[in-house]
Amino acid sequence: MKTKAYILAGGLLLAAPATSQAQSVGQAVMDGIALATLSDAQIAQLSQQAVAQMDAQNPVAGPGDPYATRLNRIVGRHRSMNGMPINYKVYKVKDVNAFATADGSVRVFQGLMDIMTDAELIAVIGHEIGHVVNKDTRDAMKSALKRSAFLNLVGSGGGTLAALTRSQAAALGNALYGANFSRKQETEADDYSYGFLKRNRYSVLALASSFEKLASLSGGSGGGRVTEVLSSHPDSQRRAQRIRDRAKRDRIR
Ligand SMILES: [Zn+2]
Repeated sequence: MKTKAYILAGGLLLAAPATSQAQSVGQAVMDGIALATLSDAQIAQLSQQAVAQMDAQNPVAGPGDPYATRLNRIVGRHRSMNGMPINYKVYKVKDVNAFATADGSVRVFQGLMDIMTDAELIAVIGHEIGHVVNKDTRDAMKSALKRSAFLNLVGSGGGTLAALTRSQAAALGNALYGANFSRKQETEADDYSYGFLKRNRYSVLALASSFEKLASLSGGSGGGRVTEVLSSHPDSQRRAQRIRDRAKRDRIR
């Protein structure tokens, strides 16, 4: 799960029977189909399968779990975003992280919940949803597919895709989990969160303080696994300052 070094093994993971399996359920399968023909709905479908596999591999907080209760309280009003249903789960692992995928799944790690206030958590979640709304998660899935042989599985014409095998779904999940967004994408996700927080009358400054907290944890660049929200490119302090400057211009304190 945590091993970002997991590399999509491409062809190795694609057992040959996958093709006949797919055909047997009446789905069109083409070799080397152009990535461009994949619809957003198909990307979401693949993402959903990858997330379902990650859910199966991680300890998910159940309905009565205090972490699930807290997360549900925090996101209660935000079960859809721009018309897309959003589903949330807590992974009870120590990593300080959160991620979202193109199908509208948001996964928040216990380690993150342990250090963030409610206001900071909704700010981080707003950032992650920003990646979904801005279609960064769709593009991350596309590049994961491009780097692999998964395209062989994909049907043409916008129909239902072949179901992935467990190992394929796991590999795709790992690729998504390890996806790095560009600096521009990070900045735009920050801006999305800022707008989301402001619209809903949450604290926009909590977005800045969440970055500062994460930055102090990671202790500069030499730390352990970089959390998605801090992912590499933009300097955390500068991002926090950018939010604070914008809040000042908006006369929010
Ligand atoms: Zn991000």
